[in-house]
Amino acid sequence: MGKRLENKVAIITGGASGIGEETARLFAEHGARGVVIADIQEQKGQKVAESIGSQRCIFIKCDVSDEEQVKSLVESTIKIYGQLDIMFSNAGIASAGKQDILDLDLNACEKLFSINVHGTIACVKHAGRVMVENGTKGSIICTTSVVAGVGAPPALIDYVMSKHAVLGLVRCASKGLGQYGIRVNSVAPGPVATPLTCDAFGKSTEEIEKYFEPDFILKGKENLKANHIANAVLFLASDDSVSVTGHNLSVDGGYVPFIKWLP
Ligand code: NAD
Repeated sequence: MGKRLENKVAIITGGASGIGEETARLFAEHGARGVVIADIQEQKGQKVAESIGSQRCIFIKCDVSDEEQVKSLVESTIKIYGQLDIMFSNAGIASAGKQDILDLDLNACEKLFSINVHGTIACVKHAGRVMVENGTKGSIICTTSVVAGVGAPPALIDYVMSKHAVLGLVRCASKGLGQYGIRVNSVAPGPVATPLTCDAFGKSTEEIEKYFEPDFILKGKENLKANHIANAVLFLASDDSVSVTGHNLSVDGGYVPFIKWLP
């Protein structure tokens, strides 16, 4: 397979870890001229950027829940690389503790929405603006989740709602930006053992993989991994998906949530 992102410039939020980190590595391998890792984890983000190579990849500290920081992230990217072709709006957090309807903590809910929903809106808005201004027929990709399609555990209600909101954003923004030749899609991962899932379930990587294993329709293959999601993001970022917009691409091993989700 040839290089898919020759000369492209991308921002990846949440690029210091998990799915974002794997995507940053893959984008660089595929010839991206600039990969900007944007994250709140400064040390980790710097380390990932350095390991990819300072010519190709830099780290910019950014809390996506603050719109001004997102605006400045996009402006800095343009200043450094002169263009923005791809925005992967991927930063997200999981619910803090048990968030079911009867004891939903609305403050925790608001914090989660400020990152998962408002942060994603800010990324799409500011990437979209700069692409329109510069006449760039770019690609914007957001991270939803399998839970935005099939529903999910009652104890993660705020997380599930946030991912439905991102899906709504993708569907609407693809209509608004389509007239400028800008594509907006999302990737919907099934459960992958990353720090987010390990922390949310209080389990190790191995325990997470074992816990979710019965729920994958696909058997006899390796467990769902962050790099499987990154491959789908690469497809949506590249011209291979030139006519795909408003689509939510599931990468979940045919995941079906079973009875264990019930209280
Ligand atoms: P992860 O914890 O490895 O990565 C998330 C990254 O987001 C971290 O580096 C974190 O520092 C960063 N982040 C958190 N808050 C931020 C903020 N305010 N501003 C900037 N960066 C911030 O987890 P992951 O699994 O790779 O998660 C990536 C995305 O995938 C998230 O949106 C998550 O909801 C989604 N997702 C994950 C799974 C899964 O099973 N791991 C499944 C479906 C969807």
